[in-house]
Parts: sequence; C-alpha cells; structure tokens
Amino acid sequence: MTLPDQTFREIRDIRRDLHRRPELSGEEFATAETIAGHLQAFAPDAILTGLGGAGVAAIFTGPGEGTTVLIRCELDGLPIEDLSGLEHRSTIAGKGHQCGHDGHMAITLATAHLLAREKPPRGRVVLLFQPAEENGKGARAVIADPRFGTIAPDFALSLHNFPGYPRHSILAKSGFVTCASRGMRISLEGRTAHASAPETGVSPAVAMADLIQRLNAMSASARLDEDFVLVTVVHAHLGEKAFGVSPGHAEVWATLRTLTDERMAQLVRRAEENARAVSTKHGLQLHIDYDDVFSASVNDSALTQMIRQSAGELDLRLFDLEEPMRFSEDFGEFGKICPSVMFFLGAGAEHPALHNPDYDFPDELIPTGAAMFHRTALRLLGGN
Ligand SMILES: [Zn+2]
Ligand SMILES: [Zn+2]
Repeated sequence: MTLPDQTFREIRDIRRDLHRRPELSGEEFATAETIAGHLQAFAPDAILTGLGGAGVAAIFTGPGEGTTVLIRCELDGLPIEDLSGLEHRSTIAGKGHQCGHDGHMAITLATAHLLAREKPPRGRVVLLFQPAEENGKGARAVIADPRFGTIAPDFALSLHNFPGYPRHSILAKSGFVTCASRGMRISLEGRTAHASAPETGVSPAVAMADLIQRLNAMSASARLDEDFVLVTVVHAHLGEKAFGVSPGHAEVWATLRTLTDERMAQLVRRAEENARAVSTKHGLQLHIDYDDVFSASVNDSALTQMIRQSAGELDLRLFDLEEPMRFSEDFGEFGKICPSVMFFLGAGAEHPALHNPDYDFPDELIPTGAAMFHRTALRLLGGN
C-alpha cells in the first residue's frame, strides 16, 4: 500500500513545521501536542499522552485477539544551530532537528494513515512517539510509566535514517546493532591556596593530568567486537582563571563506550578504580556521577529476517551490515522487554551526516519508512 500524493504533501508539511520549532530532550511538550492533534485524523482506537514525560502513543486495534507490535519514533531535537539555510530551517536559536527525528515522526504519522486504511487483522499496533532519546532517558521513562503496562508490547520496531548510504536503501543487522555508552563525570576536590604558597592547599592539577592519561589508556580493541572499549575524554576543568589562586577543584568528563552491557559494567568498575587510585594518591576527595546512560541495542534475528523480507518485497536495495554502529540508541531498552529490531534507512550517499549543522531529513523517505513499518507490523500480526 502506498501513500497518496495529497497525504504525502500534508505529512511533509507537518514534518517541516516540526523542523521549524525543535524542542530539546525532556521539553517536547509542544511537539507532542502537535503530534496528538494530527493523530486524531487517523482515528486510532486510543491515544495516550504524557507517557514518561511528553510521550504520545496511538493504538490501532484489530478485530481478532493477537499480539501487540510497538513502533517507536522520537520527539526530540538537538542543541545545534540549524545552518541548513532552507526555507523551513529552525526558527529557534541554538536548536535543530539534525538527527531527523522530525522525519521519523512524519514516517510514523504516515504509518498511522496506512493503519487507518488497512487495520491490523488481529492484535494491536502501537505507534509510540518517545521523548528524550538523545540523552538516553526517554525509553526508560516511558517503560517505567505505569500506563505502559497497558501497552506491554510483544515486539518492538524502529528505524533510523542513515546518511552515507543510497536513499531508500535498507541496512539490516541481526545481533548487536548499536553500542552501550555512558557519560562519566569525575570531580576531584582539594583545597585552594594562594598561588605563592600552593603547599598550604591541595591542588588537583597533577591528579587531573594523571587521570586523563589513565582514562585514555583504557581504550582497547579497535574492532567492534565484544572486547571493544573506547574511552573518550570530552571535557576537563581545573580551578579558576585567576593567577593568584592555586586550584582546589578539577573535573574530568569522559564518554565510555563498549559493544556489550557486560563489558560496560567492567569498564565502569575499572574507570572508577582509576579515579579512586588517583584521588587517594593525591589526597583529594572524589565524586563520580553519570549521565546519558545507553544500553546496547540487540536485534532479534527472526525480526531482522522480516525486515530483509519487507525490503525485498518493496524492491528496496538491502545492505547487510557487518559491524554494529558505534553510536548509541536508547531503543535498546525495548529489547530488554521483548524481541526488537532497529533497522536503518539510507538517507543518501552524499547527504550531510547526522548531527551536522546543515543536516535536513529527506522528505522522500517518508513513504518508504512508513511502508516498511506497515508491512512488517502486519506480517507480525499475520496480515500478509
Ligand atoms: Zn541523534
Ligand atoms: Zn537519532
């Protein structure tokens, strides 16, 4: 089933409207309200709002008893200035939709149109517009929402557009598909002193330099296998900009990345041991906290095979990925509760990369993504 031209144009205009007014992770309430409004037109059997924050779910129920297929897209934009120069560029300073989540929402609205025309024969399809993907908090918050118990998916599907591959191509991989990662913030607390008498204070300067070297040295196995470990020091801060003061505080931020959650647990332990060793040696107080915590995403092999089959039936070029993606995706949380699959939709070989300031989602992908979702969901529910 294809998207009529008129519907495509309407949904494309909604996409561009969303593109003009992006909202950051956790604040997507105006976006959610817009989505909930547009969903009415497709007459789902139920709409839930305020899920795990700004989350919206539209539920399409078939006449027969059956399983529940969840299709997930994301509501959030990024703290990146939109330098696309396009007519529909962001009107909000310092915020943009450079991950294409506006396009993923449009694809999911187009899927709602297809479901309104061809309902599931049995069971349910739930279209979830999830908040706060970019900081890794949204999927967990939605799943923790008590009303998610009424959704209780048996299968979960999602896609991400992917520049660097031909437009409309499908990239599939079973097993590990995106990495685990987490942001680690390490504070080293000493005591300030007069710069002429640093010995009367406790400076964290040498400890900070030592810690940065130790963290850097933890990276191992450049191959994306189960031993893959990448530690990237992303930010460091020492004392104040004052020549008269010997510093009393330092902060080091690092992004930890592994392929598996098990390896991540080990890496966290080892990084914390290093931080403790350094702080003890230099007589500093240590404080560690974490942000942007992402689990690995693991694709179910039977669902991945269905994605390949849908791509074949829709005559889309298929690439079997040999390696997982290095980035992280909080869709991995859904894989912990049911079989799940995330596939990628080629956004153009020469298209700007995700999170580049001039990135813009290619509208022509809207019908392709919707057809992939609709076909795969109906197959899972025994419709075709
Ligand atoms: Zn992103
Ligand atoms: Zn994204």
